[in-house]
Amino acid sequence: MNDSPRSRDRAGWAGDAPAAASERPSAVSSPPGHDPVQQLLEEVTTEPRPRPLLDTSDLRGRVAVVTGGSSGIGRAVCLTLAECGVHIGFCYFDDGAASRADAEQTAASIRATGVRLHFANCDVRDSGQVDAFVAQVREDLGDPDILVNNAGIGRDRALWRMSNAEWEAVLRTNLDGTFFFTRAVAPVMRAREHGKIVNVTSVHGIRSEFGLSNYSSSKAALIGFTRSTAVELGDHNINVNAVAPGYIRTTRLTDRVPAEILDHARDRSVLGRLGDPQDVAGVVLFLCSEAARHITGAVIPVDGGYLL
Ligand code: NDP
Repeated sequence: MNDSPRSRDRAGWAGDAPAAASERPSAVSSPPGHDPVQQLLEEVTTEPRPRPLLDTSDLRGRVAVVTGGSSGIGRAVCLTLAECGVHIGFCYFDDGAASRADAEQTAASIRATGVRLHFANCDVRDSGQVDAFVAQVREDLGDPDILVNNAGIGRDRALWRMSNAEWEAVLRTNLDGTFFFTRAVAPVMRAREHGKIVNVTSVHGIRSEFGLSNYSSSKAALIGFTRSTAVELGDHNINVNAVAPGYIRTTRLTDRVPAEILDHARDRSVLGRLGDPQDVAGVVLFLCSEAARHITGAVIPVDGGYLL
């Protein structure tokens, strides 16, 4: 007798062959003369027409909190959501006239879409300020349906020259800020059994480069945080995902990062270009839409193939 695993597999298949309909035990009670398998097939074939791939109509009237919404990727996220009718509460960090001007400019563009808006200086590193900001958004706009944890900074330096302040600033902004906002918003979403949270991590949370020990640590931790919160919040119909941008052409990035590093990033990208803030905002929009209702705990690179 051939007792190889393969033959056992075959025997298993033969043994599992479907019994004639009349012999099949009925797991669910069905009307006499009605075959449950046939019923299932009928349900499948009568499912309504597939939804359009990105139907954002359900977003109209929702409320989003976006951290670091005054410039770059955060600004593009605010405007993209606002154009879909989402009311926007965004925060920024007021460290001078330039950041206030950026915030005002973003606010004016959001207002032009006709949605309601709350924006304020709120340091994401300070849990008291975060709680107060979320409370004010709830009062002005309503309970948040969407949270985009975008605020982030870099303080790149070789490890042996990195100061405590540079380490702490990056970890506290990128990681603590995301924790504080998620903790403030999650109970509201849990109570309403609905929510979409998107964390902005980075390709450098997955693959690092020289001088990024603080930044890469914070962004890798955000990936763990995304997965962990997805597990904790999933049974309350809350999706938690992350986007991992590669080099994205924002004014501040091109001001800060030397041209040769940007050229190197462009060369490494399979698509041969840097991204735009809109490239990231489009993926955030998708993750906030019902088209992504079955995605949670995912980390989606938006990097033109930089990581390949
Ligand atoms: P920007 O510097 O253009 O914008 C950062 C935003 O965060 C600003 O609104 C800024 O406010 C705000 N912010 C900074 N610190 C604080 C704080 N303590 N409290 C509240 N708000 C704060 O950055 P990008 O658009 O380039 O980056 C956005 C996110 O995307 C970051 O998390 C970044 O790490 C990530 N990312 C960016 C990439 C890129 O190539 N640009 C690549 C990969 C990831 P203010 O302007 O007032 O200081």
